[in-house]
Amino acid sequence: MAELTQPATVLAVTDLTPHVRQLVIKPKTTKITFQPGQWVSLKLPVGPKPPLNRAYSMADPSSPFGELTLVFDHIPGGLGSTYLYKLRSGDEVFLSGPYGNFTLPQSLDRELLLIGRYTGLVPMRCLLKQMFFSKIQIPVLLIAVAPDEDEVLFHQEWLTMAMQHPSFRYLPLVAPNGEPEAVEKTLAMLTPLIKGQPKVHPMICGTKAFVRPLRAYFTGEGYDRKEVKVETYD
Ligand SMILES: Cc1cc2nc3c(=O)[nH]c(=O)nc-3n(C[C@H](O)[C@H](O)[C@H](O)COP(=O)(O)OP(=O)(O)OC[C@H]3O[C@@H](n4cnc5c(N)ncnc54)[C@H](O)[C@@H]3O)c2cc1C
Repeated sequence: MAELTQPATVLAVTDLTPHVRQLVIKPKTTKITFQPGQWVSLKLPVGPKPPLNRAYSMADPSSPFGELTLVFDHIPGGLGSTYLYKLRSGDEVFLSGPYGNFTLPQSLDRELLLIGRYTGLVPMRCLLKQMFFSKIQIPVLLIAVAPDEDEVLFHQEWLTMAMQHPSFRYLPLVAPNGEPEAVEKTLAMLTPLIKGQPKVHPMICGTKAFVRPLRAYFTGEGYDRKEVKVETYD
């Protein structure tokens, strides 16, 4: 069956950090029902061969009214994100979806370990909000990596979640010198939590340069590749 591409209206535009923006959009034709961790494909009227397809994860769980919350950073020179930064309330954007398998593991029999860098935290936010709403009470550890002090995404929300849910732990870290430093600092945090400890359910999201070395760490510690869920953004 051909995928349905439909128009959506931009309802709200909010800056979350100096370089990260949130759009709330509402599909006009059909409500998109999705699982936390999934994404939609925006069809943007830019580039040498429009439409330009760009994927964006949902930042909020499915809402009864069908609006979708998307959060993205502006990549300097990036065709899609530059276009999205120009959208205003009332504008229209085309999309299809939902897609993707970066969803909660089938059986939640181990601690969940979420590791996200920058906008790689967007699907984590959706997963956690849905879990707490559904009163799923397994232990969860979130390692949230920011590229700058000003760019720590959802910090207040994670702190509030940690206060309200004793099963949730939040470890933020800032790595201003790119992915290699982000990987190094994350591994320093991870090693005592993983080495010789009971297995967890790792879920990792961000750019390939961040995600791949971390997945390799887990497989080196005896995890099967399939036990490490990943989503790469580039
Ligand atoms: C499944 C999936 C879900 C995604 N969800 C989100 C999301 O929720 N929020 C979000 O901000 N992005 C998300 N992305 C990334 C998004 O789809 C775009 O790739 C990103 O916005 C850059 O697009 P662009 O057209 O602006 O850059 P392009 O014009 O495609 O690229 C410009 C330059 O930036 C590099 N680049 C491309 N993507 C990235 C990136 N993500 N980080 C750093 N450098 C990059 C390219 O290699 C190129 O050198 C997701 C990607 C996938 C595959």
